[in-house]
Amino acid sequence: MHCPKCGFDNLENATMCQECGGVFIRTTPTRTSGRAITSTILGITGFSIFGIFVVTSIFGLVFDSLVLVAWIISLVFGSIAFIVWMVGLILGMAAMNKIGKSGGTVKGKGFAITGIAASATGMTFLLTVVGVMLFINSMSLRKKVEMRQPAAVVVEDNNEPNSPKPQED
Ligand SMILES: [Zn+2]
Repeated sequence: MHCPKCGFDNLENATMCQECGGVFIRTTPTRTSGRAITSTILGITGFSIFGIFVVTSIFGLVFDSLVLVAWIISLVFGSIAFIVWMVGLILGMAAMNKIGKSGGTVKGKGFAITGIAASATGMTFLLTVVGVMLFINSMSLRKKVEMRQPAAVVVEDNNEPNSPKPQED
């Protein structure tokens, strides 16, 4: 704490000058909001969980035999990523509120903004990917149903000429 009156360099958390006795206006020591830092950490962590969600989802789309396991795993990781981002968003907004009301004694606005932006972006990404996945899934299901129908007709056609034969004899 640099004294504005006499220029004496006091301790950082000093409330008054040791040299001239002048009282400093900023009496409360500043601190960085823990919620703001946590918000940033959660915002970034969400993306690595989201990565696992995307990889397992693609895995399920590519390998038909593993589709159920892959979709369950991706559903779990997708839900975790969503919760992590939700908490990151709430903490970031709570931190912004506290920083705004603190009158400069609580810092970490950058952390809070980063946490809010990362969480909001992440949730938007997640919802978009889930939408695309559901669309692809419904398309592939429709394709499977379409492919199954003519196959069933062919089987019936093959059986018909075989069955009247005993009747002819
Ligand atoms: Zn002084």
